[in-house]
Amino acid sequence: MLLSEEVFLRETVREIKKAILGAKRVFFFTGAGVSTESGLPDYRGGAGSAKTPIWSRREPFDFNTFKRSKDARREYWEFYVDFAKDLRSCSGPNITHRMISSLSTDERQVIVVTQNIDGLHQLAGSNNVIEIHGNCRQVSCINCKPGKLKKLCISDAVKMFESGGVDVMTCEFCRKPLKPNTISFGQEVDKNLIISSRQTAFQSDIVVSMGTTLKVTPAADIPAAAALAEIPYAIVTKGPTDHDTIPFVTWRADCDLCEFWRIWESV
Ligand SMILES: [Zn+2]
Repeated sequence: MLLSEEVFLRETVREIKKAILGAKRVFFFTGAGVSTESGLPDYRGGAGSAKTPIWSRREPFDFNTFKRSKDARREYWEFYVDFAKDLRSCSGPNITHRMISSLSTDERQVIVVTQNIDGLHQLAGSNNVIEIHGNCRQVSCINCKPGKLKKLCISDAVKMFESGGVDVMTCEFCRKPLKPNTISFGQEVDKNLIISSRQTAFQSDIVVSMGTTLKVTPAADIPAAAALAEIPYAIVTKGPTDHDTIPFVTWRADCDLCEFWRIWESV
């Protein structure tokens, strides 16, 4: 990095820190790059990716195929059992999860809208987390209404599959397939979550996107809409993002997240 770039980055981080610490309500929008430091692979690569991206190793799962084909469901559950091992061996929340959680005080509300499905923000102590793509630690029926839903935890679901195979991975009430509580390709994101997240972003003093290439919509439209409504908007992600060219990006820190927090501590 050139000296001038280093000075610029330092100044950018200083300004973001000042804006966050001066805010009453901070809105974080996070992606896979936030969790790679914990040893979890991400889906597409980029945004601080350390491991081989999942979708370069296998085809993304399609929800309609899952519903239609027992073979697809078997394959999904085999993948899920492996993923559960990755999750167990991961090192838990990292500095970004912890720093975001620590920013919440009696005077400052911190809201996290995450595309991640790993539950690490909550494990770090954040209690205001909206998971727009679901949570992989829970398994539920694809048919029963959310209110009625009985959720299985990941370890019970894995045990169930390992002892009974795909045939037993069905709902005890309606016999339709059980599925990890995450949004797959071809499955619609809950519109109400998008709407309420957007409203929360509009009511915030600053919106910060972290560890995300901002490619996946409608999720990525949430911070974009806030930026267009002239809410101060910071992007902290290493490498290009889809929001780099939209107007009203207030701060752009192109660095990995460990470096961001290292500079944060020193400014
Ligand atoms: Zn059911």
